Amino acid sequence: MTAAGAGARAGRVVIENCAVATVDADSTEYGPGHLVLAGDRVEAVGPGPAPAGLTGVTRRVDATGHLATPGLVNTHHHFYQWLTRGLAQDANLFGWLTALYPVWARIDEPMVHAAARASLAMMVRGGVTTAMDHHYVFPRGAGDLLGAEIRAAAEIGVRFTATRGSMDLGVSDGGLPPDFAVETTEEALRATERAVREYHDPSPNAMLRVAVAPCSPFSVTTELMREAAALARRLGVRLHTHGSETVEEERFCHERFGMGPTAYFESTGWLGEDVWMAHCVHMSDDDIAAFARTGTGVAHCPSSNARLAAGIARVPDMLAAGVPVGLGVDGTASNESGELHTELRNALLVSRLGPHRERALTARQALRLGTAGGARVLGREAETGSLEPGKLADVVLWRLDGLGHSTIADPVAALVFGPPAPVTLSLVNGVPVVEDGRLTRADETTIAAEARTQARRLAALAG
Ligand SMILES: [Zn+2]
Repeated sequence: MTAAGAGARAGRVVIENCAVATVDADSTEYGPGHLVLAGDRVEAVGPGPAPAGLTGVTRRVDATGHLATPGLVNTHHHFYQWLTRGLAQDANLFGWLTALYPVWARIDEPMVHAAARASLAMMVRGGVTTAMDHHYVFPRGAGDLLGAEIRAAAEIGVRFTATRGSMDLGVSDGGLPPDFAVETTEEALRATERAVREYHDPSPNAMLRVAVAPCSPFSVTTELMREAAALARRLGVRLHTHGSETVEEERFCHERFGMGPTAYFESTGWLGEDVWMAHCVHMSDDDIAAFARTGTGVAHCPSSNARLAAGIARVPDMLAAGVPVGLGVDGTASNESGELHTELRNALLVSRLGPHRERALTARQALRLGTAGGARVLGREAETGSLEPGKLADVVLWRLDGLGHSTIADPVAALVFGPPAPVTLSLVNGVPVVEDGRLTRADETTIAAEARTQARRLAALAG
């Protein structure tokens, strides 16, 4: 069925009188412009008002004072951490993990469901239309934790990539996590395969995908890294992990494997177009060239990298080399804001503290990282991440005529350099998930109360 046919059946939505940043290959922008959505697809985008005489229009939005962009795409998160925000405030990654592992080992299904709802509510309210989660803590008897997240995403109405993480290298075998927080290699592989078979939807335009995601070189055995890569390729799903995050991780890899993280990943089958890695802060020129050559993607998490004093990722060098790069919130125990639109700003500002200074990133490059870049990293660039005819109607309308933005004439600069912009309307598949700054399918106050109750339960159990 053509997009026009779908529109005739499901109705057309017209959005006009706003600036439009399409984030297509040419970075086409209109000011003012229009969008015509037909069913779950973008039917048309262009300058000026929408064409006269459109039939089947069920909604017409006068978006004066707004900027329309593709919905934001998050590429790295840990929802469960919503319950452990604000802890280990002055630690680096290894100190922070060592402090938090014993708390995280007490999570259960009701906790993860409440944390996922809160994490997703926060992001979706801030313009995210494609969410992602990396869950790697699976205490025995804790219930179906991945299922709890998947349920939460369906309740909020957001497109979702769930990743089944794992840890099998406890402290007694030379890893960082305590032994009680890890699974056996066999358990991890079996549960990961079960999760893919139960939940992954390979169909085009799917609302739910599942990927395979052992946690990191210092919490996972080489056997699990190798077997996880083989499993993902046998099942036809993507691969995700943390990589090259800190100098401590780099040292760990040299001491244990006799090579740096990127060489280790390559030796275990972990570079490729079907792989994306969080952080990638400590990358040599050779490492960046290896990512570019193999098409390995990066989830850049500037706030988390700053919070944990990890360093500044070489994003301008990665982009120049052709490495696919998206943005990630990372877990909210290391980025308490939990919002992705603030990462557009932080990606730009943090990168300008690096060697490229004012030439590091532009506002438009930052917007691209958070939209088309993220879609590519998740393997979904053919479906979402830009506003083009035939793509999914995942669209955000940012209000830029209010106090925070009305004096910045360039709408993309207002969005990226300015304070977090209010979301007037956010659509997933053409269906509103946010209207006038509020979630359409869930109540924020209830979500906040549920999350607080579960955070207190966890603190009591862990205390
Ligand atoms: Zn992470």
